[in-house]
Order: sequence, then C-alpha cells, then structure tokens
Amino acid sequence: MDRSRRFVDLHTHSWASDGSLAPGELVRQADQAGLAAVALTDHDTVAGIAEAQTAAAEFPELTLVPGIEISAIFPHGTLHILGLGIDPDSPVLAQALADFKDARDNRNPLILQKLAELGMTLSMDEVLAAARRYSNNQQPAGQIIGRVHIAQAMLARGFARSINEAFDKYIGSGKVAYVDKERLTPRQAIQTIHNAGGVAILAHPPQLKYENSAQLLRILQEFTQAGLDGIEAYHSDNSPEQTRLYVDLAHKLNMGTTGGSDFHGSGKPHVRLGQPRVSVSMIGQRFRRKLLGAE
Ligand code: AMP
Ligand code: ZN
Ligand code: FE
Ligand code: FE
Repeated sequence: MDRSRRFVDLHTHSWASDGSLAPGELVRQADQAGLAAVALTDHDTVAGIAEAQTAAAEFPELTLVPGIEISAIFPHGTLHILGLGIDPDSPVLAQALADFKDARDNRNPLILQKLAELGMTLSMDEVLAAARRYSNNQQPAGQIIGRVHIAQAMLARGFARSINEAFDKYIGSGKVAYVDKERLTPRQAIQTIHNAGGVAILAHPPQLKYENSAQLLRILQEFTQAGLDGIEAYHSDNSPEQTRLYVDLAHKLNMGTTGGSDFHGSGKPHVRLGQPRVSVSMIGQRFRRKLLGAE
C-alpha cells in the first residue's frame, strides 16, 4: 500500500453482479480517486476479480482486495456478510457460489411468474437482455442475474418508473412479487469465507432492521460466536450516530471495523466511489496487515 494515500473503499460492486462498471474500470476509477485500497465485493460471485487484478497491476499505488458479499438467512431484515481478502480460486468457495447461482436461477422465474399474475408479463430473455445492456454486452461468464436486472427489464417495459419503484412496489423484500431464495445460515456464510481465507464482516448493519442497540448487541454476540470478525461501521447508509454505535459495539465485542461505499455505479447514482471517506486508521488493526499490507 502506498503510504501517501490514506483512504480506502472496502465495499464495491462491478457488473459481475449488479454494478454498472467493468471490474477494470472500477479499479481505474478507484486509482483516479486517489484511494490506497479498493475491495471488489460482488454479490455471490468472484467472476470480476481476475479482470480487476489485471487492471490493478497497472496502478502500483492502489491495493486491490479480492472480496465477495454473501447473503445469509436472517428472519426480519437483510443480512449480508462481506468476505475480504478471500482467495478467489478457493474450491470450497467455488462450490458455494455454484449453489448460490442455482438458488437465484431457481428463484428468478418464480418472480417473473408473480409479476405475470399481476399483469406484468416479462420473459427471462428480456431480463437477460437488460443485464447485457447494463454491462455493455461485456459481462464476464458467471455474471449474477438478480433482482436488479429484473427491475431493469420492468423499467424497459414501463412497469416501473425507477429501479427503486420496482423494488418498493413489487420485488423488494415482502412485496407482492417477492420470492425469497435459498441462503446459507450466518455460520455457514462465515465459514465459507474463512475457508476461502477471508475475514468475515457484517455489511451495512442498518439493513438488519434491529429495534434498538440492546437487540443489535445480542445479534452481534451470536454472530461473534459464529465467527464474525468485524463490522462495517462506515458505509454510505450509516448515519454518524449509527457509525458511533457500531464502532463502540465492535470495541466491546473485540471485533474490528471496516468501511466502504457499496458503490454500484449508475444503478445507485447517489453512492459515490470512496464515499464516505474511510481512512486506513479506521480499519481494524488486525485487518490492516492482512488486507492492506499496512501496520
Ligand atoms: P438478489 O440478490 O437478486 O435478490 O438482489 C438483491 C440486490 O438488489 C441487493 O443486494 C441490492 O444490490 C439490490 N437492491 C435491493 N433493494 C434495492 C432497491 N430498493 N433499489 C435498488 N437496488 C436494490
Ligand atoms: Zn448489489
Ligand atoms: Fe449488501
Ligand atoms: Fe453491497
């Protein structure tokens, strides 16, 4: 890591999942933004990492952290676990990712069926075409096809005016055309990340929809027992009060903190690469050496 650079972004998506930039372009923009490190953490796939690594070789001042974001079972909210510093070639990971792909591929047609029952008939070909348009016809083999692409196909047909509206009215969690997919338990997700050589971080804690800090503490205690290593205390969705709470709880539970933007490109235009500003010193000490090569 370049010592004159101070800021990192440890949560980003490329078009290998539902971001809008090529992995190489994402790396180029991270360097342009003057970041010391960027983690590529696509949903349930490592398909973008090879391209990101090739691109990163051209930017010696930037450290690329290979990562992933895995969805896990959580009854009342959304639980995403980041795996940072994974080996993208891990066979254990490859098996888990093949299972995730099956889970989405099984679920997506069920969503389309529900939409059809609501009078919004879309074919899977239209969804695939939307995914291709989104990634300029260049997406890698193994690209994840998910709800964001279904939302884009809905937009193309005029069934919704924005991606947000598609989620809020129809395909978001608990909405009329929502269908859940098979997921790992938190413990299984954490173990998969550990088996792949990574550290497991609770992504965007507000999405757990916990009721108060006492309940969050109990949830975190459970996750700690399941092997969780850290909390994403800094994130584009976290308010300053939330960030303070997460830093505090991480400290209490002897976990580390990390931070990232959750950049998706044009799909979430309000989220900018490298925002919020996360300095190397905000990253848990135990992660700094492993992920950033820094003390
Ligand atoms: P999937 O994994 O296919 O069920 O798709 C879930 C992904 O959709 C999430 O990880 C987000 O990236 C995205 N998503 C969820 N809600 C929204 C929303 N309201 N607007 C845009 N993207 C969303
Ligand atoms: Zn996403
Ligand atoms: Fe997430
Ligand atoms: Fe994310």
